[in-house]
Amino acid sequence: MRFFLLPLHLVSKYPNVISQLIDKRTLDAARTLLDDSERIVILTHMSPDGDAIGSSTAMQRMLMSVGKEARIIIPDMLPAQLRRVPGAKEAVDATRYPDFAAQLIADADLIICLDFNEPGRTGNRLGALITTSEAPKLLIDHHLHPADFASVVISHPEMSSTCYLLFKVFCGLGLFGNIDTKMAESLLTGMMTDTGNFSYNAADPEIYLVVAELMRKGADKDRIYREQFETHSLDSMRLNAYAISEHMEVWPADGAALITLSREELNRFHYAKGDTEGLVNRPLAIPGVVYSAFLREEDDFVKVSMRSVGDFPVNVLCKEYFGGGGHLNAAGGEFKGTLAEAAEKFRSLLTTNKEKYIK
Ligand code: 5GP
Ligand code: MN
Repeated sequence: MRFFLLPLHLVSKYPNVISQLIDKRTLDAARTLLDDSERIVILTHMSPDGDAIGSSTAMQRMLMSVGKEARIIIPDMLPAQLRRVPGAKEAVDATRYPDFAAQLIADADLIICLDFNEPGRTGNRLGALITTSEAPKLLIDHHLHPADFASVVISHPEMSSTCYLLFKVFCGLGLFGNIDTKMAESLLTGMMTDTGNFSYNAADPEIYLVVAELMRKGADKDRIYREQFETHSLDSMRLNAYAISEHMEVWPADGAALITLSREELNRFHYAKGDTEGLVNRPLAIPGVVYSAFLREEDDFVKVSMRSVGDFPVNVLCKEYFGGGGHLNAAGGEFKGTLAEAAEKFRSLLTTNKEKYIK
């Protein structure tokens, strides 16, 4: 069934103030993949964030709106605030249900990969399932350097979020008219969270035209902001205050800052996933600090998060020394070693970083 041949009145609703980004050939290829599939699986990256779950749920609902069935598989649990995104609670958590997730992937005739650039970003297990699956893959993402694993690639690193890109994909497919309030809220969540509520990577004026369209669709921007940015448990608030007060090192002359938290400290404040979201950004408020790292001790590695302002490339730092990657201004990785070793590694790079990257 060729369901994408939409009545003209829907196609004509493409908001004419918003530019078309994706070339026709790529859109046609994506449309064919969607047309030809019946059992679709949507996958996103480990530790799913607002953009990951926002794009996944918007895609799932859009597919439902054209009569397709799709399941979302998330590699691990969602933090509390992301469970409020419409459709998020129905996602299959592959950590809790590994066999079910594997079965869904085995049965899929299309795998849609959202907000990640290489299979490994979904974890070793899911990554291997993606790589070995013979189903075609459609990649829609905004991370640099997409790995060569998908049949159709819509990769735009200049876009601040996958949700923003996905809005343009929907429009390009003639599906603007199908975006309902819930899809609009999912998309707005990702656009908002990947830009720190439009405080970084948010200089593209068109972002705000899209936000306006999503609000016209009924998205409650103020509520989403409050839920995503201004809702914290008491424990989480105290943990963040403690980290800043007791475990923040700042080197203004080197433009750097570092925050560390050990397993014991996290336990003391009953750490739950998402509790330290945004903490890594806080030192960037200090005059002179242009990059900041947060190291959180996990059971068998140290989770690294970095943020920067201007052209300081934290993705390079994360890739070269901390087993990861990411964007110019937001990156992360996993350090194999102790918390003390990871912190010492970061400190040892201060002078080199300054010479290389800070004018
Ligand atoms: P966060 O600090 O929020 O965990 O991650 C920020 C960004 O860094 C993510 O959007 C992602 O692009 C990247 N990132 C985080 N962790 C990793 C990792 O382990 N490997 C890679 N390649 N990128 C990561
Ligand atoms: Mn993203």
